[in-house]
This record gives sequence, C-alpha cells and structure tokens, in this order.
Amino acid sequence: MNRKEFLLSMASLPLTSNNMNLPELKNITDTLPKSELMPVLFIGHGSPMNAINDNNFTKHLHKIARDFEKPKAILVISAHWLTMRNTYVSVNPNPKTIYDFGGFPDALYKVKYEPKGSPEIAREVIKEVKSIGIIEEHEMGLDHGAWTVLRHIYPDADIPTFQMSIDYSKPPKFHFELAKELKNLRNKGVLILGSGNVVHNLRQLNWSDPNGKPYDWAIEFDTFVKNKIDNRNFAELADFQTLSKASQIAHPSYDHYLPVLYSAGLVGEKDPIKYTYEGIEMGSISMRCFQAG
Ligand code: ZN
Repeated sequence: MNRKEFLLSMASLPLTSNNMNLPELKNITDTLPKSELMPVLFIGHGSPMNAINDNNFTKHLHKIARDFEKPKAILVISAHWLTMRNTYVSVNPNPKTIYDFGGFPDALYKVKYEPKGSPEIAREVIKEVKSIGIIEEHEMGLDHGAWTVLRHIYPDADIPTFQMSIDYSKPPKFHFELAKELKNLRNKGVLILGSGNVVHNLRQLNWSDPNGKPYDWAIEFDTFVKNKIDNRNFAELADFQTLSKASQIAHPSYDHYLPVLYSAGLVGEKDPIKYTYEGIEMGSISMRCFQAG
C-alpha cells in the first residue's frame, strides 16, 4: 500500500465505520423496552382545516406517535359518527375519505386519506364487547374527526384504520362503561383514538379576536376536565352535566365530548397520562389532547 492508497483507506474508515454504526444505533433504539400495551389517545380535532394547515397543533401530531410502536390497526371513535339506538363498527375493507363539512376551500376536498380498513380486527371489537351487540357496518369511510388528524400522525396511511360509532341515544355513562370493554384491544396492538373536543361551542366562536382570551366558561370547563384527569377521577367525567355549571355552554350538544369519555374509560390503573397539546382556540374550542400509556 503506497501513501496515497493508505490515506484513501484511512479517509474511508470513518465513513465505513459510521455507515456501520448508524444502523446499529438505530437498532439499539428500536429494541429499547417498549410497552406492549398500546397507548390511548384523545385528540381535540378542532377545525377540518387542520388537515391542511401547518400550525403548532398539527406539528404536535407529527411527533405524537414517535414514542410508541407502530400499531397493527387504529380504531377511531369520532364525534362525527353518531348513530341512534345502536353502536356500529365499520368492517369496510376500503374506507373512503368522507367530506362531512361544508363551506371550506376546495383544497380540503382534494385531500385523500385512505388507509385500508381492518374487518378482522373490527370483528374483534364485536367479540370483546359483551354488554351490547355491536353491529357490523359495511360502507362507512373515515370521517373528518379521523382523517384530518391521522394524516398528520401517520402520513403514509399504511396502518389499517376503522371506526366505531357513538350511539347518541345513550347517556354519557354508557359510553364510559362501554369503553372499558375495549381495553383488551390495547393488548392486541390496536391504537384507540378518541376524536372530539374537550370544549366545543361553535355558536360562540370568537371571529373578531380568534387568538384572544378564551371565554371564562371555556377555561372553567377545560379545567374541570383536566382536574378530573389529573386526579384520575375518570368516572366523574361522565357526570359532567351535574358536576360543572359550565358544561351546558361548553357543550350545547355533547357529541364532541363523548369521545373524551371513550378515551378516559380506556385508561388503565398504571397508565401514565400526559397532555400532548393544550390551548383554547377562537374562545370556545379546547384543543386539549391527552395520551395514556
Ligand atoms: Zn368536529
């Protein structure tokens, strides 16, 4: 080996060594002990425009799945799939993007987020729940409570995703109790995501000062929910109408609150809980999100 060859080989050494070490390092990170139990998420989805916006909320969604394993499937329980007198689960193998809103820019209607469905795991939901008969639904796509947030969390749309409906004819406590029966799915690699808003009053949106101080009642109810979660008094979240005076104005209809009860009902005793995002937009929409486990 002459000098030039020697220098060249030396020059290539660090590179070779780096090339070898990088994948090794990556593997070490990958094999760090991770909980086999899937976490539970609650996402305050806010405006459908979040699907195409780049803001602090959407930036947080991009990072949210980094600290847990890739799920086998995602079950979304969204404020935008309400049914009456029954609970349905979608066994559609190819759910389509649903544009269940009006008056937004064309760009939003061009977004497609279409992962495969998961009829097999959807039927596991039916098996797990003993208290009621959950009914198969064959045509449901993904509503905007699901796709506007999932396109940021899993942009590749490579995880089978399906939804379970919310039976709006049932009282809040029913939903909290039903959620408990879904707990075992967390052991089977299913990420369960509740999608609604902790405070949701569209009639009171503050258009004149969107970034101004939120309404007192919005802060009050957001704090009520946070306190219940902090103190792990999850069951009391279902009594929100009697326990919080602000509940009526925070939720003139409580469709966006019920997904909170599903996520809360799925929290296990040992699950650590963190707020992945907080804040009230346009005075009356709480964007609070939490992760358990
Ligand atoms: Zn919504």
